[in-house]
Amino acid sequence: MKKKVLYVEDEQNQLELIMEVLGMAGYDVYGALDGITGLKLVSEKSPDLILLDLNLPRMSGWEVITKLQGDNKLKNIPIVVITGDSDAEGLEKCITAGSSGFLKKPLNYKLLPQIISDYIDGKKEKVKVTPKKREGYLREQSLRLVDRLHVQIENLTKTNRRMEILNKELERRGTYINKMLDPLIVVDLEGNITDYNSALENFLVSEWRDLTDFNVFDFVDDENRKLIEQEDKKRYSNLSSSNYRLTFKDFNGVNKQVLISGHPIVEKNKIAGTYAIIKDISDQHLLEEKYKNIFENTSEGLYQSTLDGKFITVNPAIVKILGYDSKEELLDKSIPDDIYQDSASRQKYIKILFEEKSVTAYEEVMITKNGDKIYTIGASRLITDENGKEPYIEGNLIDITERKLIDQEREIFTQTLEEKNRQLKEANRLKDEFLANMSHELRTPLNSIIGFSEILVDGLSGDLNDEQFEFINNVRKSGLHLLDLINDILDLSKIRAGMMKPSPEAVELVNLSIETCTTLRAQAEKKEVSIIFDPPDEQIFVEADPLMIKQVFLNIVGNAIKFTPEKGEVRVILSEVQVSNWDNNSFKEVKAGKGDAIRYQIIDTGVGIEEKNVDIIFDEFRQVDGSYTRNSGGTGLGLPLSTKLINLHHGKLWVESEVNVGSCFNILMHKKLPGKTDKQEEDVLSSDEKSKLAESIIIT
Ligand code: ADP
Repeated sequence: MKKKVLYVEDEQNQLELIMEVLGMAGYDVYGALDGITGLKLVSEKSPDLILLDLNLPRMSGWEVITKLQGDNKLKNIPIVVITGDSDAEGLEKCITAGSSGFLKKPLNYKLLPQIISDYIDGKKEKVKVTPKKREGYLREQSLRLVDRLHVQIENLTKTNRRMEILNKELERRGTYINKMLDPLIVVDLEGNITDYNSALENFLVSEWRDLTDFNVFDFVDDENRKLIEQEDKKRYSNLSSSNYRLTFKDFNGVNKQVLISGHPIVEKNKIAGTYAIIKDISDQHLLEEKYKNIFENTSEGLYQSTLDGKFITVNPAIVKILGYDSKEELLDKSIPDDIYQDSASRQKYIKILFEEKSVTAYEEVMITKNGDKIYTIGASRLITDENGKEPYIEGNLIDITERKLIDQEREIFTQTLEEKNRQLKEANRLKDEFLANMSHELRTPLNSIIGFSEILVDGLSGDLNDEQFEFINNVRKSGLHLLDLINDILDLSKIRAGMMKPSPEAVELVNLSIETCTTLRAQAEKKEVSIIFDPPDEQIFVEADPLMIKQVFLNIVGNAIKFTPEKGEVRVILSEVQVSNWDNNSFKEVKAGKGDAIRYQIIDTGVGIEEKNVDIIFDEFRQVDGSYTRNSGGTGLGLPLSTKLINLHHGKLWVESEVNVGSCFNILMHKKLPGKTDKQEEDVLSSDEKSKLAESIIIT
């Protein structure tokens, strides 16, 4: 049987060399690099000889010898100490402790097998040591051992304490980790779950299951598995953390959108796996989906773009607005060069954005893929506050080409209309000028006709037979009618030219009304129409032009008689009233009782006016086309003229009527004239035009 040799040596090369030499010499050789391993091998292998280096790590050669000497089974194994020159004292200690002999380095490899054989066979005697010396060394050694023991106990106590602290810390961290709301998962390199917190159990709905029986890939589909593998690869090769999105399927098969924050675990300089915090972003994901839907489906163009003019993100609407076939095609374009009609305009816009940070209702002319010009309006803002990101623009725009074209058309239309209006005013001025001239020219001969026919009718130039009387009387009547017409036309023209202004004075209306009614009595009596005027107890004064008021009164009461059949009735009511919120010809309410205004009500039991004609009758030359009207004659100028005269006094004239029942004409007047004249009336002609017209109108 081969002899067994154990060589304890901390220098690896030396150890390997000697082992080789002894192996070749036919020994079974075991090697140990330190004292403790050496001791272990002695008990396991029971060598026939031990070659022992003196200076060893973990336990010195001397200590190894002392230990072996304390073990009855092992103490007889010969120990040959191998030593350097400087170890004289240590060597002595070893020999005293019980080694069989020693060899000095460098070893003689040729002789070594024989020397070993001699020691094994007992041919070399054990070095003798005096008992006293031995005892001294042993005591010293035991003292050292005691010291070491103390040190070790102290170390152990410290380690224990540290362990305790560590345990507490671990427990504390464990509690925190378990208290974490976000799931935490620890996996090895194959994805097997090695640890997790209770939030992960809730997240995966995994009560009663030990998740370390599962692999992370059990909870994802193939697509997401690929994603995890990609991220793992990146993380492990860069030894860096990674954040990415995943879809997890829990034990109920419900998909959950999560954000993974994965960190590599390194143990003993090796990558051991990953710990990851899982954030459930399902709600956020739903919201994102919703916004994504809006983003995708709105008809408003939405985009993000770089400052130097490239789109970063675009929605389908803006692709459509700009006439491109795909997002990719548009993302490829340069905004200033391909999209803006005027690329310099983009510079201007960027400058404004930098100054204002955001713009709204910004109009721009753009060019579509086909080269068509479109008008757009949009709002945008400069995003500069995102950490580490280049500033960029976020905005929206809509195509307003159609609106713009309509606006342009409207503009042209308005201009044309204004021109037409100007022409119309001019024509109107010419017409008034013409009418005024004509009225004057007509009135002079007409006055002669009326005058001469009256002389004939009155028989001042001799008697006329009946036929002659009838003819000349007709001439006189027609002349008077024509004069009425011409007077009305002239009045209207003058009012429009702003030349007829009231000469206000205190006019007493009760007497004026009685006078007028008396004037009209003959006309009424012919038709057996009664005029009823029940005068108020007190006189009523208004600030007005008496001639104008009389003219209106005659007109309205005259019409009432004219349009009331025989035996009918015309009632005149004059009263003081209070008018609330009377402004610009409109008022809220008229209440009876002493106030700042007066009201005339001329009520007849005549033919009435159809509702559709109520407004028409106030237009010039408009008569209601009924047989009664035609029978009654008239010019169709009485009401428009009356309205204008009342307006000159800032009053109001209107009618309420019912067919075949009667009409009620109302006149509302301020007791005291408000300061201003009617501006509208004034504006019809310029002052230059008025003075021209004044020259042509000679009031007779
Ligand atoms: P004219 O009386 O000369 O025809 P007006 O301008 O005074 O002109 O009146 C216009 C039209 O209003 C009249 O032709 C008539 O049809 C209608 N009208 C005026 N007053 C009355 C009334 N009191 N009853 C019914 N119709 C009236």
